[in-house]
Amino acid sequence: MDFKLNIPFHRPLIEKDDIAAVVETLESGWMTTGPAVKALEQEFAGYVGAKHGVAVNSCTAAMHLALAGLDIGAGHEVITSPYTFVATAEAIQYTGAKPVFADIREEDFNIDPCQISEILAKDRSNVRALLPVHIAGHPCDMRSLVKIARENDLSIVEDAAHCLEGWIYSPNHENSKTSGQAKIGTIGDATCFSFYATKNMTSGEGGMVATDSDDLAEKIRTLALHGMSRDAWKRYTAEGSWNYEIVTQGYKYNMPDILAALARVQLKKVPDMYARRRKYATLLREHLDDLDALIVPQECLNSVHAWHLFIVRLCLDKLTITRNQFIERLREHGIQTSVHFIPLHLQPYYRNKFNYRRGDFPVAEKVFDSVVSLPLYPAMTEEQITYLYDVVRETIEKHTVREKCFVPEEIA
Ligand SMILES: *Cc1c(COP(=O)(O)O)cnc(C)c1O
Repeated sequence: MDFKLNIPFHRPLIEKDDIAAVVETLESGWMTTGPAVKALEQEFAGYVGAKHGVAVNSCTAAMHLALAGLDIGAGHEVITSPYTFVATAEAIQYTGAKPVFADIREEDFNIDPCQISEILAKDRSNVRALLPVHIAGHPCDMRSLVKIARENDLSIVEDAAHCLEGWIYSPNHENSKTSGQAKIGTIGDATCFSFYATKNMTSGEGGMVATDSDDLAEKIRTLALHGMSRDAWKRYTAEGSWNYEIVTQGYKYNMPDILAALARVQLKKVPDMYARRRKYATLLREHLDDLDALIVPQECLNSVHAWHLFIVRLCLDKLTITRNQFIERLREHGIQTSVHFIPLHLQPYYRNKFNYRRGDFPVAEKVFDSVVSLPLYPAMTEEQITYLYDVVRETIEKHTVREKCFVPEEIA
């Protein structure tokens, strides 16, 4: 490449209408949880096809309260995978429950249902829930997970921080709203979404629980605001009063209207932003798929990928450079990348607390050693995508080990 384009790892798509919505809220005189949050909750629930949406200030808070609302706490265990952002295990620990890790599948980096079954076969007495993470936006094998949950009387809380716009196709799924297909947000007891700055839609910070349960939605709503029996904004409107009751120990997890106003505009743009992600992911796959030393992400026949992250795997035995050198080469060309994820059992805190060591989750470790996340977001231009696959291609080709050809003597 004789020219250089700078491609940050992420840049949110914030346009004039996003900014106008925030300014309008600031001018309205109501900044904290109020009418914009109410509207966002209804619009978001409608969008994913769930009965309720409960807005909070992060996906971490959403997972915490979903678990707490399902009465998960001290003495309980929740099964998740070590191949995720720390928020997943953290949310479990907030409740007092213990995160129990199950290894992932190599093909999609998602929790392996067989590994869950193995854990349950050993001792299921304290396990109360599964917390699958749809890594990169590739939906987990929800059919198997729902079956396991049913057979073992477990709840399912999904970490869908990456999976707004994910779908699964499952002919016999009882939860399917439309024949044979189910959108992420309609499957587990609760599905948690993130509006963090890098996610498929953003309000800077923010999160949402989608659920069909009236009871769970009400519990989460109460927990999210100090355990108060009524929403603060209702207290201050004409139909409200100064009176409230504290019915449980709650948290300060509510979303302010300033952010909800931004999220509402973003939500309207999700179809267009997703179409752009999808188009770019297709272009990257088409132009990188034939490389021997690189594995590009695939979309399963029975699911729709939300394309939050584009994680490629390097075949290190076919390359003369390491993963970190590959990252460095791209950086020299102006391309910022990232690595998702450092398995949690290798992090000092989790390693020490639960006595984990390298070797405990071999698939997660093997995947981690070889992955790189390439930039993929709607604010990228097609020129940047072209530059990206050209540089990746050139870098991989330049450093691929050449097989030594055997040339028979009579030809030589
Ligand atoms: C971003 C992320 C979260 C946390 O989302 P917040 O809204 O920042 O709390 C949780 N899980 C995964 C997999 C994530 O990538």
